[in-house]
Amino acid sequence: MIKLKFTGVGSAFNPTLYNTSCYYTEANKMLLIDCGADTFRRLHELCVLDRVSDIYVCITHTHQDHIGSLGTLIAYCSFVSNKKVTLILDTDDVYRQQIFDTLSLAGVRKDIDYNVQNHLKDTFTSIFNVSFFNVSHNSFLKSKGYVFYLNSNEKFIYSGDSNDIQTILHHCHDVGRYKFVQAFIDCNIDKISKYNDMKPHEYLSDLTKFIPKNRRKLFTTMHYDNYKCRTKASEYGFNIVYHCTEFESTLE
Ligand SMILES: [Zn+2]
Repeated sequence: MIKLKFTGVGSAFNPTLYNTSCYYTEANKMLLIDCGADTFRRLHELCVLDRVSDIYVCITHTHQDHIGSLGTLIAYCSFVSNKKVTLILDTDDVYRQQIFDTLSLAGVRKDIDYNVQNHLKDTFTSIFNVSFFNVSHNSFLKSKGYVFYLNSNEKFIYSGDSNDIQTILHHCHDVGRYKFVQAFIDCNIDKISKYNDMKPHEYLSDLTKFIPKNRRKLFTTMHYDNYKCRTKASEYGFNIVYHCTEFESTLE
């Protein structure tokens, strides 16, 4: 399993833990999963951008805590630091257009400031490829989960935001030569929405109901509402994550 480092692990309204986003580096290449409103600043604080020249970005959906500083990252790479940014996106037209529109309004241009592809083949030594699946999260934003296939014959899932754990569990099993080793899932404290039909995230009650205790170490929770949410997830037996510090990041 490759080592993902988190710039942040918080939900949209929890700036204390920063926006949930993670990265993996290999030589001069970086894979970044989501680029929320504070992610560009966090990447600078962690001195990650200085060490890479090719940046591959997966975007789960266009809520600002997942894409809010991608325009700035691309502009910085294109106009200031001469780095190459490639978005790894599903071919779904509506989903792609929502991302392109967001970036267009941020002043960066497809095929000029950034490129797009729908695979990760022949890019990282440790990653064989990626596939995508639809995730239920918000009625007017297309949301995607990613399945990463590793050359170690392992696969892991990164769901982004989701309100339907069953959709994710459908992918949490071995396929062919790929052994399922981990799923990264959002995790929130149960709450009553003032809109009865609005439940954007996985609640701890759903996770504990549908994921048996003996499998919970295969699930890493993230996107926490608060510290209590992370503590509870740990008490229930799920993996938890912390955002990395500059010191940790420079130890690679
Ligand atoms: Zn969202």
